[in-house]
Amino acid sequence: MTTDDTSASPGERHLAALANAGQFDRCPIMPTYGPPPVQFIRGEGPYLWDIHDKCYLDFLSGLAVTSLGHSHPAVAAAVADQANRLVHVSNLYATEHNGLVASTLDRLIGDGEPRGGQVFFSNSGAEANEAAIKLARRYGGPGRHVVVSAFQSFHGRTLTTLAATGQPQKWDAFQPLPEGFRHVIWDDLEELEKNIDDTVAAVLLEPIQGEGGVNPATTEYFQGVEALCRERDVLFMVDEVQTGLARTGRWFGFQHFDVSPDVVTMAKALGNGVPIGACWATSEVAASFIPGDHASTFGGQPLATAAARAVLDAMMAIGAPALADSVGATISRAMASLPEVTEVRGLGMLLAVELDLSHAGIDAGQIALDCLEAGLVLNGVTNTAVRLAPPFIIDDSHIAEAVAKIDGVLAAYR
Ligand SMILES: *Cc1c(COP(=O)(O)O)cnc(C)c1O
Repeated sequence: MTTDDTSASPGERHLAALANAGQFDRCPIMPTYGPPPVQFIRGEGPYLWDIHDKCYLDFLSGLAVTSLGHSHPAVAAAVADQANRLVHVSNLYATEHNGLVASTLDRLIGDGEPRGGQVFFSNSGAEANEAAIKLARRYGGPGRHVVVSAFQSFHGRTLTTLAATGQPQKWDAFQPLPEGFRHVIWDDLEELEKNIDDTVAAVLLEPIQGEGGVNPATTEYFQGVEALCRERDVLFMVDEVQTGLARTGRWFGFQHFDVSPDVVTMAKALGNGVPIGACWATSEVAASFIPGDHASTFGGQPLATAAARAVLDAMMAIGAPALADSVGATISRAMASLPEVTEVRGLGMLLAVELDLSHAGIDAGQIALDCLEAGLVLNGVTNTAVRLAPPFIIDDSHIAEAVAKIDGVLAAYR
């Protein structure tokens, strides 16, 4: 098929255009991603179907987004019902669900006890972090605006969250980036201490570096960071965009380390695929914002908050954190039994499976592509590790199916 084939769907033409070098100018989608290997049109529970009706087991959930599985009935019903009643009014007016969603999040951040904090709703993870960074600057005041984050971190793709992201290779093409960001070695308290001076407003860390390779923090590190932040009156901000909402076996990743951050951002799983993000802060910190300081046209609108409300209800009903903890342990054990697997790291159902592929001369990206061909969705998170972030609703048969598929792919290189 070519891009001139008018009988093809726009999606098929996109695939063909991206696949044919030299025809990029005729592809209607900007080439910010590589050529997509398949086109999905339908999903149900842990399964996806492509345009040829081939079925795939989804062990990635978008990227830790559809934690309740695809087309979750209660979420679909809430979105459909809301779409039929009220999709949008401006944030100058109150709407039905956002207060409820905010107070539920506040209680989950308090691990069952209300913390009395407040929420700003956004449409994405990057925007949730933008809100946190603006809040930190407001809280810090003039001259005290620096945000310290870690190398290998990921905080988003907007210019400011890219500046916070600790991956220098992603900065170069977009210089000059906004100033006021400093990066330190991950999991090194001494390094952090040396980099906190009186220009620093906040420290921003992920409990598990997701995009950076699924690198969990240690309790010692997070408790040390918290103590240091308290001592220097610096905000402790935690980016839970990937780790939040039960993914790691607790409602929020920081809860593994028994700390109380001042600011918590989240997004990915909050709408089970409907775009919504949130920046939570203690009420003392949130009080730094005054009307007019920050805004979002779509943030917190009824359609997205109806989805989030249904997601939180469904997650609470299934006891999502405990479920992610126990199912994740079963997956880890099963994966560890494969001969090429040298380590399974992560928490709950956010896992990296480290592979010894030296005999095969390929990287984890190739394994991910081979798995896709075999009907299993996962991704290469580093050159040597694949990431698993399945939906919470899978059972032992799905785990057995995934392990058999990965084993089959690896066996071809043995
Ligand atoms: C995905 C991610 C983001 C960015 O979220 P978007 O919705 O893509 O803007 C920020 N932080 C972390 C930790 C993430 O995993």
